[in-house]
Amino acid sequence: MMIENTLAEPDHVTALRRQLRRFVQDKAPREKRRLWDKEHTWPRELFRALADMGLCALTVPEEFGGAGQDIVAAVAAIEELCRAGPALAGPFIHCAFYGGMNIAENGSPEQKLELLPKLARGELLFAYGLSEPDVGGDLASVKTRGRIEGDQIVLSGAKRWCTGADFADYIYCLINTAPNAPKREALTFVLVPAKAPGVSMTPIEHVNLRYTASCDVHFNDVRLPVSAIVGGLEKMNTGWGMMAGRALNVEKLEVAACAFGFAQAAIEEAWRYAQERVQFGKPIAEHQAVAHKLVDARTKLEICRHALYHAARLANENKPCAIETSIAKLFIAESGAEIALACQQVMGAYALSDAYDIERNVRDLLGMPIVGGSSGMQRNNLARLWRLKG
Ligand SMILES: Cc1cc2nc3c(=O)[nH]c(=O)nc-3n(C[C@H](O)[C@H](O)[C@H](O)COP(=O)(O)OP(=O)(O)OC[C@H]3O[C@@H](n4cnc5c(N)ncnc54)[C@H](O)[C@@H]3O)c2cc1C
Repeated sequence: MMIENTLAEPDHVTALRRQLRRFVQDKAPREKRRLWDKEHTWPRELFRALADMGLCALTVPEEFGGAGQDIVAAVAAIEELCRAGPALAGPFIHCAFYGGMNIAENGSPEQKLELLPKLARGELLFAYGLSEPDVGGDLASVKTRGRIEGDQIVLSGAKRWCTGADFADYIYCLINTAPNAPKREALTFVLVPAKAPGVSMTPIEHVNLRYTASCDVHFNDVRLPVSAIVGGLEKMNTGWGMMAGRALNVEKLEVAACAFGFAQAAIEEAWRYAQERVQFGKPIAEHQAVAHKLVDARTKLEICRHALYHAARLANENKPCAIETSIAKLFIAESGAEIALACQQVMGAYALSDAYDIERNVRDLLGMPIVGGSSGMQRNNLARLWRLKG
């Protein structure tokens, strides 16, 4: 059983969904999905094929070789690719979202000219260097330092959970460049070539999103030209504004789309299983308790779909959507975790083996309320945006 999109959408998005669904069915069979997860890896050649279809151009403006910023299509692409777990959606996100979206929004004219055409063609991958050993949600407190020396910026410090640092061309890195200023006036984004002298990394073992290793990254007096500052030297100390802008809104949607895609895959699998598994003389789907679990899960999923694509449409039209994107991230990540546990119950012992995808989907879905701005951070955002005062 494949759950179909139930919302009105442009024809080209429906066509893209169909194309990606066939791609996933043909190229990402279960044994490959299991292997990518076990070995912390993703298929280079399949990412190349997706890029050749024009997928990475979806977040790049036309003037830089992209397809225009089509956020609804990009979100639908994540949803479809996540049917195969994170191994196909991951690299697409590292290119189109961490790279294309951020540079299109915040890059200097030179950075846009140099990087966006390559990003649109899928030739560059970015990693996010936000978190640090002592900094999770409180990003304004990053301690990685950047000091200006002549026409260079020199970086020292450490990033944690830098997913994809091992394969990325650039780390899109949040640093402090004014230690004596108020925190929010001291933040700068820098593009750090992952192979620059002074950059070293060690992988972290983790159970979710295992399409690659998440890494500890160390900067030991990494010297970069000041042109590595995102937006150029004049944008130094304006990183907080970049984090609160459109790129971050779309980033929340990217994480929500992953949670939605994993949750959809979990329900599809549990739905099939419940119709095949016979206990007490009938398929377990005919036991009312099981049927209700599945119906509740699918009801949550359909509500998530509305939240996701409502916010994506607003972002697409460049309308204010900080509230809607926070709702989507919060609600879909939390619902996804609930859906995962419900589907796990339906699939019984087999959900705990690696005979089915549910085992991986549970691991990935339980992590979604934590990564990419935790549920606590989204609730704080919403309390602030809705002006809830004590
Ligand atoms: C597999 C994986 C991949 C990741 N990839 C990346 C990446 O590529 N780049 C990157 O920069 N980071 C990455 N992260 C880090 C991730 O974004 C952080 O885990 C996340 O931001 C939360 O930070 P924390 O876990 O340190 O939690 P903390 O900030 O320490 O928070 C712990 C708990 O306390 C709650 N909490 C804290 N402060 C408040 C508050 N003021 N109000 C309410 N609740 C609060 C949080 O909601 C959370 O539940 C990754 C993490 C994982 C597990």
